[in-house]
Amino acid sequence: VVVRAAMFDNLSRSIEKAQRLIGKTGTLTSENMKEPLKEVRRALLEADVSLPVVRRFIKKIEERALGTKVLEGVTPDVQFIKVVSNELIDLMGGGVGAKDLEPGFPQIILMAGLQGVGKTTAAGKLALYLKKSKKSCLLVATDVYRPAAIDQLVKLGTAIDVPVFELGTQVDPVEIAKRGIEEAKRLGVDAVIVDTAGRLQVDEDMMGELRSIKSAVRPSDTLLVVDAMTGQEAANLVKAFNDAVDITGAILTKMDGDSRGGAALSVREVSGKPIKFVGVGEKMEALEPFYPERMASRILG
Ligand code: GDP
Repeated sequence: VVVRAAMFDNLSRSIEKAQRLIGKTGTLTSENMKEPLKEVRRALLEADVSLPVVRRFIKKIEERALGTKVLEGVTPDVQFIKVVSNELIDLMGGGVGAKDLEPGFPQIILMAGLQGVGKTTAAGKLALYLKKSKKSCLLVATDVYRPAAIDQLVKLGTAIDVPVFELGTQVDPVEIAKRGIEEAKRLGVDAVIVDTAGRLQVDEDMMGELRSIKSAVRPSDTLLVVDAMTGQEAANLVKAFNDAVDITGAILTKMDGDSRGGAALSVREVSGKPIKFVGVGEKMEALEPFYPERMASRILG
């Protein structure tokens, strides 16, 4: 499966226009880059990339483009595209392939995110991903506020044949998480994935609980699950979670949908942390490593 990115159709059209505007002669100047930069800016905003992120991105491209000499045999328009492409790759996490999970014995992965973003689904997907790389796994259910969430995780675990640790809804989530890790050590599994409660909005209780779970389990990874449709709010959301629990990366879900996906560009820019995986469907198999360079070349066509 290839990641679909509707947002990028617009951008590649804009880039084509930018190419025409810069033309095949001359050099990159503030003057002839003005319109092409406006096009890139418009495309990013249309794709719901958060405004401050767009501003900083455009400024970077301009500085980078002005600072470089047009190479011999390279036309300015090609050079402009190259600069945009490089910055895009950089913004999304660098061009050295997908970022994997952090090592650990066991690996402890803490899942965080708002309700409905696909967090529980992503926990199951990650368990299957680890299983496929020959790692044994335990899922831990700590969302005591929604019994349905525990049932959902148990069902997913059964479907992919991964054990689920749960203590119902009457035990404190921090206690469940702690005992889940103890259970994982007792079982000798390679990885533990701790699913947590989501709320409809970022609130202090949620962040407080997440912080307590984090200090109780000392995760190797704290992954923020972000719905690709988050839009303009993505920057604030990522900042709030990163400030509260210092994430190690993100999973961008629902990239198979019609989302404009602007969140992809906001995550790294705001947090400095990579997107590690993308969700591309409801099935447990629908998880892929995130490749910034692939995404950028899709954007630029
Ligand atoms: P949570 O509240 O964050 O745990 O969200 P869930 O894991 O329950 O997911 C909410 C809904 O989104 C469910 O209907 C999932 O099947 C769906 N979902 C999750 N990930 C994806 C994805 O990558 N693509 C699509 N199309 N749907 C997804």
